[in-house]
Amino acid sequence: MPPIPTAELHLHIEGTLEPELAFALAERNGVVLPYDTQDELRVAYSFTDLQDFLDLYYALMAVLRTEDDFADLANAYLARAREQGVRHAEIFFDPQAHTERGVPIGTVIEGLSRALDAVQETHGITTRLIMCFLRDKSAESALETFESARPHLDRIAAVGLDSAEVGNPPSKFREVYARARAAGLKCVAHAGEEGPPAYVWEALDVLGVDRVDHGVRCLEDEALVARLVADQVPLTVCPLSNVRLRVVDRLEDHPLPAMLDAGLLVTVNSDDPAYFGGYVGDNYTAVRNALGLDDATLRTLARNSFRAAFLDEETRAAYLKEVEGVQESGQAGQNGG
Ligand SMILES: [Zn+2]
Repeated sequence: MPPIPTAELHLHIEGTLEPELAFALAERNGVVLPYDTQDELRVAYSFTDLQDFLDLYYALMAVLRTEDDFADLANAYLARAREQGVRHAEIFFDPQAHTERGVPIGTVIEGLSRALDAVQETHGITTRLIMCFLRDKSAESALETFESARPHLDRIAAVGLDSAEVGNPPSKFREVYARARAAGLKCVAHAGEEGPPAYVWEALDVLGVDRVDHGVRCLEDEALVARLVADQVPLTVCPLSNVRLRVVDRLEDHPLPAMLDAGLLVTVNSDDPAYFGGYVGDNYTAVRNALGLDDATLRTLARNSFRAAFLDEETRAAYLKEVEGVQESGQAGQNGG
């Protein structure tokens, strides 16, 4: 069976850097990596805690310097995502992780955009860019970043908030989110992954987000679940990431079924797939196997991903029809492909 058509809504482009590409870009740019071989680097990818992950993640970013590098990074992700059924991708990038190394924000945005334009042209895959602020940096730094991105806002669909959650509540970024909304951008934020349900409330009520990234800890707060269900606020859940970063001990313990049962608008995504053990299709396969989800539930997740996407209604309807085409593909002539 071909992979189910899906939208990927929680994907950090820097988290798609595979060891092969890291070495290729290091060589092209004359960057010396603290690893002698790809195998040695692969071993480093089997980190067991958040700090080891972040250390590696930021160390490898040193290889990303030119527009070509960012275009190659996005092309590599899009090729893998396409094989795994992704029809629409909303891609996070972290400008501060690059500008602080001396890479201009325009280089990042133009390089990524080149790859996104090409994949729409060649494969009809639609994309959006979401500019994220690193929440462990200051509110002033986020504001400066937003202002430096103003000449490029036509390429950006939304702003987001990522990196170390605890101690960096959404309310710290009230001002920059107000500016983003005033500029007509959509808003999302990581909340309720390692941080408490109170951070999800703040993301909703202080930042005015259209979507919550992760949000799994909402289950600890009944009133919050009721709010998220009533407003059908989408949650971008990342199952393999949750296991790798110990939000849950085992995938078998993942609250995804409970979230679906509660009526939450849940989607499945890959987060940092090069580091967390798989792309979006791998996440679908993993939850199907570990949680015993049937085909109808997998289709619900796929349908949710398009319902939650920043798409015009016509395109959304076309994608939803593709999901139904999978349902009917057993019947002759009914495959919408
Ligand atoms: Zn994330």
